[in-house]
Amino acid sequence: MAARRGDVHVDALVAVHLDLAPFDRPADPARRREEFGRGEIVAAVRRVDEVQDDGLAGAQPDRARVEIEIGERDLDGPGLGLNRGRGGEQGERKQQTGAHDDLLILPPAPRLIEQMRACAYSQGRAQTVLASLGRSGEEASMPAAIPPALREAAKVSKAWPYEEARKLLKRYPDGPPAGGIVFETGYGPSGLPHLGTFQEVARTLMVRHALAELVDWPSRLIAFSDDMDGMRKVPPGVPHQDMMHAHLDQPLSKVPDPFGCGHDSYADHNNGILRQFLDRFGFDYEFLASSDCYASGRFDAALKSVLRHYEAIMEVMLPTLGEERRKTYSPVLPISPRSGKVLQVPIEVVDAESGLVAFEEEGERIEQSILSGGAKLQWKVDWAMRWVALGVDYEMSGKDLIDSVTQSSKIARILGARPPEGFNYEMFLDENGEKISKTKGNGVTIDEWLAYAPEESLAFYIYRDPRKAKQLSFSIIPKAVDEYAQFLAAYPDQEWHKRLGNPVHHVHAGAVPPARMPISFALLLNLVAVASTDDKKLLWGFVRRYAPEASPETHPELDRLIDFALAYFRDFIADSLRHRPASAMEAAALRDLDARLALLPGDADAETIQTEVYEVGKAHPFESLRDWFRALYEILLGTDQGPRMGSFIALYGIANSRKLIAEALARE
Ligand SMILES: [Zn+2]
Repeated sequence: MAARRGDVHVDALVAVHLDLAPFDRPADPARRREEFGRGEIVAAVRRVDEVQDDGLAGAQPDRARVEIEIGERDLDGPGLGLNRGRGGEQGERKQQTGAHDDLLILPPAPRLIEQMRACAYSQGRAQTVLASLGRSGEEASMPAAIPPALREAAKVSKAWPYEEARKLLKRYPDGPPAGGIVFETGYGPSGLPHLGTFQEVARTLMVRHALAELVDWPSRLIAFSDDMDGMRKVPPGVPHQDMMHAHLDQPLSKVPDPFGCGHDSYADHNNGILRQFLDRFGFDYEFLASSDCYASGRFDAALKSVLRHYEAIMEVMLPTLGEERRKTYSPVLPISPRSGKVLQVPIEVVDAESGLVAFEEEGERIEQSILSGGAKLQWKVDWAMRWVALGVDYEMSGKDLIDSVTQSSKIARILGARPPEGFNYEMFLDENGEKISKTKGNGVTIDEWLAYAPEESLAFYIYRDPRKAKQLSFSIIPKAVDEYAQFLAAYPDQEWHKRLGNPVHHVHAGAVPPARMPISFALLLNLVAVASTDDKKLLWGFVRRYAPEASPETHPELDRLIDFALAYFRDFIADSLRHRPASAMEAAALRDLDARLALLPGDADAETIQTEVYEVGKAHPFESLRDWFRALYEILLGTDQGPRMGSFIALYGIANSRKLIAEALARE
């Protein structure tokens, strides 16, 4: 992370942040300009822009070239918590237990909620707009008025949420449908919500907000729970296993709540957790459960249509199935009147208009209506039917569902509707580039992330490059925290077209808070490392010397970041520090640095110190300045990368830093 003047690296955004540091010094801007040469600031800003553009370059989907990698996935077996692969396999170690207590102790994410409320969607404004179009939409809503300059910039922005939102403008060239645009996200209800759940809702809301910035079209987000599926296996770790076994193959909505906390069913219990989870992030959504939609008759018209087009649907599905499966495949899964189980049996359509089908159970022919809860549909058909019944205009899904999207889209067209717009996002990978899976327990859960970093950093990470397979491991957290801060700091001075490509615009739905972090996470981590203390007061002492205006009271975010740095250091860095001895040449350079530091006043600023560090590097036969900085990190800090040394020494103090050098020389 060595940041040399005019030599700023993509992987050195932390250092860029320090060089740029528009918020690094509270002092007057004139002084800031002195400290950071104009060229340096321009270079850093340009770099931020390039990084943004890099991130946007991959914004165009290239479905034809996407390779599908599907692990063993049981599309009809939600009892395994597989969540239909809806990005569902990221970091969810706890998912299979379905343990109730895990969720109840989670703190809310108040700051994110506060930010989301800042742009709260209004139903009143939506009604006015729809009325002016001669339409009515009772549940649609939209945010407050959008500045014209922003709207103009949004029309041409290459940021992916706008690319996605513009698909909806093409879909409705004559204005929005009655009731507004319908966004949907879906879940398997058999386990705990996880990072995959979070990212899909967050990204969908980013598109929804982008649409609102483009046009005054009301919209809704439906969060749909697939709780009608049969429980194919009893999730391990759930109490009352015997009772649960007695309900195998019944719809999850008919399985009693094994946790005994008063929910109507196991599905209801998990739906409650899902809603609690979504509420925790302040998401604006409308919750629908599949079991309710089926039972209430809301799906009946679409179900009749499925029966009317039964043969055409079979023609779509059969070629996708293996020989054995073809013999028993039916898009309609009747609920047994005897056992209450979801039956996988061939059916015969008796009368589409009354929803009547016939099937065999234990050798006996049964005629039964599939309407109002008498059956559910097989996965891909179910998805298509739901799009049609709910009028879904937009739904994104994981890359592992490309095949489902293809088949379901064909079926939606057979049912006389247009499949929704959307795209397939990439899955997260672990540190070794392997796909994250529950069973392996690799990757990071949402709560693990939030134990080491603020919510915004997670939303920021989720925003970026949804079409690139990204690593999701603990090692990326500090970089995400500092890059977020970097983008946040750049935002106020950017033109609208740059702002709209800035991730923080989307993380905060346009209500971007001011940047108030005077110190980077990376620098804090190094401070914790050399200070060898978990005493926050002591750490604040260092911080206040560096940023005198900051205190726990005035900078609560920084106070929180110090807690995060302590936790992250303890769990991921402490054991990996390796201080190597200096070579003879390096030792000479260190003695030179020590002598120069001794001549500086105790309150010398970061830039003055940095100049001396550079001079030492140039005065000794290092192959490049980078080698000098790396030597400093490895010898003084015990890491192979580190902060801008001038900033670090200013933060840690000249006297303390000289002690550090003396200790290192003693190791020779
Ligand atoms: Zn419960």
